[in-house]
Amino acid sequence: MGEALKAFYVTDEDEKATVVFATQNRIARREGANEIDCEWGEVSCCRAKEFDSYAPGPVPKLALLDNGWWMTCHGCERRIEGGYVHDDHGDRDEHETAPVEIGQGIWCSQDCHDADVKDRMERRVAEQWCTAIAAADLMARYPEVTIRTRPDSFCLHAYVQRVGGLYAAKQVRIQFDFPGGKYGGCWCLEEGEAEFSASIAFGDLEAWYIFRGKTPEEAARLVEEHRRPKARVAAPTPSSRGVA
Ligand SMILES: [Zn+2]
Repeated sequence: MGEALKAFYVTDEDEKATVVFATQNRIARREGANEIDCEWGEVSCCRAKEFDSYAPGPVPKLALLDNGWWMTCHGCERRIEGGYVHDDHGDRDEHETAPVEIGQGIWCSQDCHDADVKDRMERRVAEQWCTAIAAADLMARYPEVTIRTRPDSFCLHAYVQRVGGLYAAKQVRIQFDFPGGKYGGCWCLEEGEAEFSASIAFGDLEAWYIFRGKTPEEAARLVEEHRRPKARVAAPTPSSRGVA
């Protein structure tokens, strides 16, 4: 039978700490250092007998809180410590709170958790709305394009931010393919812009103009025009925005 796993407390003596289970201190120290993204020499490691019963881990966050740890609430991002929440200035809320642990997360209270879940859901709906609007806008403009929808990639992207009670689109990008194009394009709305515009890889610009009805000669001339001002800018990924 193997040696029993024991709990060790590994910390950078600053703000990062973890509890790891191992048979020996040096193993725990290495694992713990990895876990909190520190070098071996930057951490201290000592036994934490109070957590032995949780082997092989992880120790529930509520148990850590009960043992004097502090955590950041996943919802309101305030600090939970000693049964109270503390704001950015370290001021303690006057009412005691009952933190809840669900999956990998910890929230300062059930109400905070519920509000967080609702907020995430609303955010997702708002993001889906944004990409749906982008898709409708693009298809109305260029019905021949194909919108990329692979779930494993960054094809449909929206970033929204809560402004008062509503969500505002900060950035919306959807990728599409068009006849004749090699790399495809991106239909984008950036913060502060009122309309979507296309972002096309430089290598596809000529095809993009031809797709939009230009003759090959006109397309070549337009690409040349784009090339000239671009030459002054050392862009790592050449693309042309606002050519819709
Ligand atoms: Zn909270």
